[in-house]
Parts: sequence; C-alpha cells; structure tokens
Amino acid sequence: MKKLKGIITSLLVVMLVGMLAACGGQDLGSKNVSGNKGGDKGSKIKIGLSVSDLTLERWQHDRDIFVEEANKLGADVVVQSANGDEAKQLSQIQNMLSQGIDALVVIAINSDSLSPVVDQAKKEGIPVLAYDRLINNADVDAYVSFDNVRVGEMQAEALVKQVPKGNYFLLGGSPTDNNAKMFRDGQMNIIKPLVDKGDIKVIGDQWAKDWDANEAMKIIENGLTANNNKIDAIVASNDSTAGGSIQALAAQHLDGKVAISGQDADLAAVQRIVEGKQTMTVYKPIKTIATESADVAVQLAKGEKVSTDSTVNNGKVDVPFIKLDPIMVNKDNVIDTIIKDDFHSYEDVYKNVPENERPEKK
Ligand code: BGC
Repeated sequence: MKKLKGIITSLLVVMLVGMLAACGGQDLGSKNVSGNKGGDKGSKIKIGLSVSDLTLERWQHDRDIFVEEANKLGADVVVQSANGDEAKQLSQIQNMLSQGIDALVVIAINSDSLSPVVDQAKKEGIPVLAYDRLINNADVDAYVSFDNVRVGEMQAEALVKQVPKGNYFLLGGSPTDNNAKMFRDGQMNIIKPLVDKGDIKVIGDQWAKDWDANEAMKIIENGLTANNNKIDAIVASNDSTAGGSIQALAAQHLDGKVAISGQDADLAAVQRIVEGKQTMTVYKPIKTIATESADVAVQLAKGEKVSTDSTVNNGKVDVPFIKLDPIMVNKDNVIDTIIKDDFHSYEDVYKNVPENERPEKK
C-alpha cells in the first residue's frame, strides 16, 4: 500500500512538472511565433495610433474609420495626436510603447526622424505600420498609402489642361513629409517637359512648413507681389495649402482666375471647386486606407504575415507596400465620386451655390 502511494505521488509530481513545463513552453512559444503580446491567447489586442496632426480635417476621418474597423476586429486603439510637433510625436510613441501595445501605427510628421522609436518598438517585439507616410531608414513591417507620385501627376495634369502655357508657382507641402517629395516628383513628370519646351515658366518654388494654410498664404502673398500678380497657375500639393493660397489670391481679387490644384477632398476645397475657385482636388478614399491599415495592424499584432503586391525601399529595408489608387476630382465629377461615396453630402458641397445653379442631384 505504502509502495502504491509512493508510485502515485511520484506520478503526480512528474505530471505536475510536465504540465508546468508545457505551460511555460507554450507561453514562450506563442511569444516567439507572434513576436508580440497580441499573440497570447485571451488578451485583447491593443494598437497604438500616433497621428501627426488631428487639427487637419483629413486625419480626423482616418482616425475615426481606423478605430471603428479595429474595434470591429476586436482590438482596442489608443490614439494620440502630436499636432505637428515632432518632439511630441516621439515622446507620445515612447509612452505608447511603455503602455504595452501589440502593434504601432504611425502617421509620421518627419519621415526621417522616427528610426530610433521604430528600433525600440522592434526590440520589444512590437510590429510597426507606416500609415500613409513612409518612415525612412527603419525596419518598418508594412506601409499602406496611395500612389503618391500619381497624385502629383494628377494635380499637374489638371493644371496644364487648363493653363497649357504661363507662369507657374510650385507650392510644395511639408519639407519633412516624404509624401510631399513624391507629389513633387509626380508634378514634375508632367511640368518639366513643358518647361523645357518653353511653354511653362516656373516663377516660384517653395514648401509650406507643416502643410500650414497660413504659411501657404504668406508664400503666395509674397509670390504675387514679387511677380506683379502675374501668376497663372499654382501647383498646390493639398487642400489646406490651396485654401491659404486662395485667401492670398482673393485679397487681390484673383480667386477663380488662377488655376490651382489640391488634394484630400476637404469639404471647404470641394465647395471651392463647385464655386469655381479651385481647379481640382485628389480624392483618396479614406475609408479604403483606414480600413486596410486597421486590418493589417491587427494581422501584424497577431504575428501574421502581410502579403502585398509591391514594396518600397526606405533606405534600410524593402517595406511591403499596399498601394491604393487616388481619384482626380473636378467640378464635373464631384457628384459621381465624393457625393456618391457619401464622403460629403450634396447639400454640404453645394451649400454656397444658389439652388437654381446646382446640377441635378442624381
Ligand atoms: C498626405 C496628404 C495630406 C498632407 C497634410 C500628406 O502626407 O498624403 O493627404 O494633405 O499630408 O496632412
């Protein structure tokens, strides 16, 4: 009997040790496989979303849709906005990392200054997704954006169609935003041959810090003064800088007379388009980029591989790139694009247009 008791006790001890070892192994194993805590069964996935600047209309849409989609997939999202302050973005990201997130999603203010925090995230096994703006020289896991060179081409194409010859002012976006450089590359693909031919004369070339509308206004005010108001087209890289430029034009009663591009389909910009004050905008369906990014972020948090059709080199690695298509919008297709998608309502878009001058609603 004593012998039997001894055997049972030893068996129990062996089983217990075995079970403990198995548990430990499983825990370690799941961490190794997923490379982050999100892979642990049972815990809710937590994603950190660092937004460059929530004071710009575009990023509010991105935030709302991203959070909604992530929640649908069962993940929580911590959102922080640096409101254009580079140092603040770095400390906010460090703070998120210390809170124990499972994936980090960043809309970078400065594409070149985030490698230290990306390195830190990667050391902690937290995957990083670059949202709309590439992060350079860092081991980024995925990049979701639009074809930004094509955006620049669409802007310039619309302007040269309206103003095939004349004085062009190039108004770039934030010089620290990698996208701003890609938009310029696209714009020059169209403009450079016409400059070489002598049809277009570039009479100004400046970049608006932080994509700021006031900064853009000042640049164009000075540009108008320096050129005796002889500007035929402004290659503005987004709607906030187009808005500032149009204010400067309006002060000289030139709004509606100078062709000007934009991007983002901000409500104010679309209203200006139907009023004839802005030539075009580029509509980049935010629903697509935000939903796609949330899906990818959750996949990364779970330790899953992301498959993409293309890659982009950021100076350190070939980053898997989900490249989405932008859409050119002018007053002729506003209804079939922005309004059809419910991005803005017909009533809002035509608010300042007398009812008898509005096109049919469809
Ligand atoms: C985005 C634009 C936006 C700009 C300013 C860029 O990186 O691609 O859509 O207008 O930032 O926020």
